[in-house]
Amino acid sequence: MRVSSFTVVSTELSNGSHVLANAITGAVDVVSPEVGAPLWEALSESATTGPWQVSPEQAAHVVASLGSSKRSQLSARGHLTTLPVVSEQHLMSAIAHGTHKIQARQPVVAILPSLECNYRCTYCFERPLQHDLEARSGNDKFDGVLMTQDHLEPLYGAIDAILADGDARQGRILMLYGGEPLDRRNARLVTALVEKGLQRGYTFHAMTNGHDLDHYLPLLGKRGIGRVYVTLDGPKHIHDGRRVVTSGESSFDAITRNIQLLIDATDAEIDLSMRLDPSNTPWASEALRLYDTWDWTANPRVTIGARPVHVTGANGAVHPALNESDLLAHLRQATAPYARVVPSRIAGLVVRMLKPVLESGARLQADGTHCSANSGSYLFAPDGAIYACWGAPCERECKVGTYMGPDGLSFDTETANRWFTRKVADIPACRSCAYALFCGGGCALHAERNNGELFSPNCNDFPFAFSQCLADEVDAYLDVGSRAGLRSLNAASNPFPWAHR
Ligand code: SF4
Ligand code: SF4
Repeated sequence: MRVSSFTVVSTELSNGSHVLANAITGAVDVVSPEVGAPLWEALSESATTGPWQVSPEQAAHVVASLGSSKRSQLSARGHLTTLPVVSEQHLMSAIAHGTHKIQARQPVVAILPSLECNYRCTYCFERPLQHDLEARSGNDKFDGVLMTQDHLEPLYGAIDAILADGDARQGRILMLYGGEPLDRRNARLVTALVEKGLQRGYTFHAMTNGHDLDHYLPLLGKRGIGRVYVTLDGPKHIHDGRRVVTSGESSFDAITRNIQLLIDATDAEIDLSMRLDPSNTPWASEALRLYDTWDWTANPRVTIGARPVHVTGANGAVHPALNESDLLAHLRQATAPYARVVPSRIAGLVVRMLKPVLESGARLQADGTHCSANSGSYLFAPDGAIYACWGAPCERECKVGTYMGPDGLSFDTETANRWFTRKVADIPACRSCAYALFCGGGCALHAERNNGELFSPNCNDFPFAFSQCLADEVDAYLDVGSRAGLRSLNAASNPFPWAHR
């Protein structure tokens, strides 16, 4: 008997116990310090890079120390097993393929009406794209940079064809993305685009800087653009230095005014992100207190999350300016009182995974794919092309097709297959990682840029952050009253819309 290769252990709960979660059996259990502490030690000290697993010697030592009744309890839950390692890996692979198949039938569609933006944020990953806009367009009409009325028929023809084939995710929702999709300068085109989509039975979400939301008020709400994803980077004097309006006015004033307008005058939902690096992280708690005074933290239509800015080095490698564990260290305490605020992407992932388990005794649902770019994301750009990855719109490496050419919708099968088939079971270094079915192999774009290979792991510090969040959420659930209880994020709401959960 040995410790399952796919049982992960949480950090310590406030009462000294630990959580075990097994991605194959779907079991989640709280275990005593005598069982949990040595397993956590064995897992956390066994590796400094993936694959992350308990070393067989240390695990054998833990198993030998257990009494027979404890052994049979843990084995009934799948945390101990007699299966050979390779058989468990086959099970992991079968789950990864099965969940990928389901996700591939739920394509995610985004429309980029414009590649231009009325902001020049200091850390924007699209800055090189925007520097290049004039050269891209080749003329003063900005062809290929802004959509026109001529795009609309082929655009919706292609979207209809893609979605006709799948089980549309969360209904028939299209994401407006950019550049800035809700720039007031494009209101006529964007209004026509949205109205045409509504006539065809679609509704919309928008990832926007929020600056011109007041110019789109008639379209905002559940019957039109039902949710907006907006970023605020701290209190005004911090935020305005990072999210810079080309016209020179305060972006903080415009965005906060518009969020309040949305709350008061529409039924739209708001997902608010804080984009953090070491310079503004110390201000995140003050920003939360501000949102609290405006009642945003308690509003059931508002979800708040933090995520790191990513930094590209001179060699093209991409890293988070802060890893998830740093975010947690800064924000765990500050976010704990709020049921609708998550300190990091992985905290949101853990909340969504645990909710059905803790509330109705369901099995933990594992997932073999990191994000929708690896199962079916279709970003429609003004240049007539379709791209797979949200982090690299208009980059040749993720151009999976076209929709404006003489042939209508057409795919580059090789590139589409490369992007849309990556799952954790196909990444050799991930196959023996205990976290495989929770992590999904990490961001494919960053894996390619950092390792030169799309089918390679991108761990960052996923295991440590996941284990910490597992402990925090179970702790909060068990300790209702003194803390927030299990966070109650809207199940459909996700501050990271390209992620699966
Ligand atoms: S997580 Fe990575 S691969 Fe997925 S959409 Fe974002 S940048 Fe692209
Ligand atoms: S990328 Fe994720 S699944 Fe792969 S080794 Fe790293 S942590 Fe494990």
